[in-house]
Amino acid sequence: MSMPTIRHIRALTIRGGGADYHDQGSGHWIDDHIATPMARYPEYRQSRQSFGINVLGTLVIEIEASDGTVGFAVTTGGEIGAFIVERHLARFIEGQLATDIEKMWDQMYYATLYYGRKGVVLNAISGVDLALWDLLGKIRQEPVHQLLGGKVREELQFYATGARPDLAKEMGFIGGKLPLQHGPAEQEDGLHRNLEKLAEMRSRVGPDFWLMYDCWMSLDLPYATKLAHRAQEFGLKWIEECLPPDDYWGYAQLRRNVPRDMLVTTGEHEATRWGFRMLLEMECCDIIQPDVGWCGGITELLKISALADARGVLVIPHGSSVYSYHFVTTRHNSPFAEFLMMAPDADRIVPMFAPLLLDEPVPANGRMKVPDTPGFGVRLNPDVRTQRPYSR
Ligand SMILES: [Mg+2]
Repeated sequence: MSMPTIRHIRALTIRGGGADYHDQGSGHWIDDHIATPMARYPEYRQSRQSFGINVLGTLVIEIEASDGTVGFAVTTGGEIGAFIVERHLARFIEGQLATDIEKMWDQMYYATLYYGRKGVVLNAISGVDLALWDLLGKIRQEPVHQLLGGKVREELQFYATGARPDLAKEMGFIGGKLPLQHGPAEQEDGLHRNLEKLAEMRSRVGPDFWLMYDCWMSLDLPYATKLAHRAQEFGLKWIEECLPPDDYWGYAQLRRNVPRDMLVTTGEHEATRWGFRMLLEMECCDIIQPDVGWCGGITELLKISALADARGVLVIPHGSSVYSYHFVTTRHNSPFAEFLMMAPDADRIVPMFAPLLLDEPVPANGRMKVPDTPGFGVRLNPDVRTQRPYSR
């Protein structure tokens, strides 16, 4: 078979849910007084949307090959991501063989090095990379997990992130990760309330169910250390993303400070093999949590995962829906996966990127067999209104 070349790449934007999962309506648990680094300012403490967590919106990348096959992917990046794709990255994609993902990634990364390296540029590169894997899978009529070497287990098992670990347990998940709600600015009273919430959930779920706290970069080293020790009596399994991502030194110290049986996890806002090399070599954490749509895509995640595997560190990707599922099912050092509870009260299963994708799989009884449909196995919902802000 002669391999198609890439004819065209398009970058579209969408508002409301989707890959920018913080872009939700009011009354959602995901925006209910969650501890953040901005909580030091009282006016930004109640709502993350108040400081602009949903300012970017969703970015959709569509890539069309010379045989008419279209691959696509979604990530966070909105209009600024669309600009980067259309005005800068497109030149490295159009005209290339659909198989040549490694070269395209390399050119996108090095051409943007002078303003990129992390953040929204890597979100955009990730989106293009994922769309290329989707395209290649559709051309070859194979699911992405087969392109990655095939499944090492038939079923994924999930923990749930959301405000109701007790309900997640009833739904068959193996654990529940709560958002921390009070940061250091709320002092002893806030710490007390954080521990009360954990104690309440522990009493509801019993002794063996995993409970974790996601701190979304909101703490400092003394507070995180204190929280970890005080949370030990409630069986906290791991403490996640306590510090800002650039504070590798703080993470290394935190890992030495926490109780021996508590895990330190981080990495959802880290990117590329070099960023994760810092986390790994400085022994910052026990589990890395790259977001497949932000860290550089599948192509980069393969490299990140190999580095982690050699050091005995687990890779449990952050969110990222099908882009994570197809990867996790192929790796021994990714033994379970995260599911974000997107129902406003975290009381039922909603597809993670709703309403953006059709055929987006969800766990049943906390488990999922990753579908064998070509590419990532999802379709863009035609009812969602897209815009193309930069048509070159
Ligand atoms: Mg997190």
